[in-house]
Amino acid sequence: MKFTYIGHAGFKIESDEKTVFVDPWLGAPTAALKMEDIGEADIVLVTHDHGDHGYEEGVQICKKTGATFVAINEIGIQAKSEGGLEKVHTLNIGGSVDIDQVRITLVQAFHSCGRGAPTGFVVTFPSGSFYHAGDTGIFSSMELLRDLYHPDVALLPIGGYYTMDIKQATLATKLLGPKVVIPMHYNTFPVIQADPADFQRAVQEMKLSTEVRVLSPGESTSFP
Ligand code: ZN
Repeated sequence: MKFTYIGHAGFKIESDEKTVFVDPWLGAPTAALKMEDIGEADIVLVTHDHGDHGYEEGVQICKKTGATFVAINEIGIQAKSEGGLEKVHTLNIGGSVDIDQVRITLVQAFHSCGRGAPTGFVVTFPSGSFYHAGDTGIFSSMELLRDLYHPDVALLPIGGYYTMDIKQATLATKLLGPKVVIPMHYNTFPVIQADPADFQRAVQEMKLSTEVRVLSPGESTSFP
């Protein structure tokens, strides 16, 4: 799995000859990718409909590439009716869909939104799995996600104000037990300033076996 950080909560993940976008907010002040840079995509996931999570861009990417759009029921319906997409899965929390060899599971998040409910995703490729928490505060049933899915990589917000801060994200890392954690949703706006080096230190102090990998927008990392 190769993870490219678009910026904010947006990632491009390439694995097993599939390209998946999560929360592709290309309009972020820090965004490292423009619509014209996007050549191919197979699956687009949007965690909730706040403007900083790329619902609009996600629909555009699907139109441009023929990718399948996956979100919670109400946002999926909107992508069909208002967005004009045909290849849409309208999951709800706890539900999964297999798209070719990629299993997408919609999981809970504690946040707010316009339509539907806020969510996260667990994505399982043949060669590895990741959890994108979406926007959320910490919740103890992250342990269930660990026990159910054993995500290899966790993408966790650390910026506070709208989501978990570093303290919560550190404990969330312990609850999830991933091999790699990548911080997100920080330093995009003044209210979510956070130093990812502090997160790195905090995870190390917990003596977890998890490796923290900090990506700047536009940077990539691969697992394993
Ligand atoms: Zn949000």
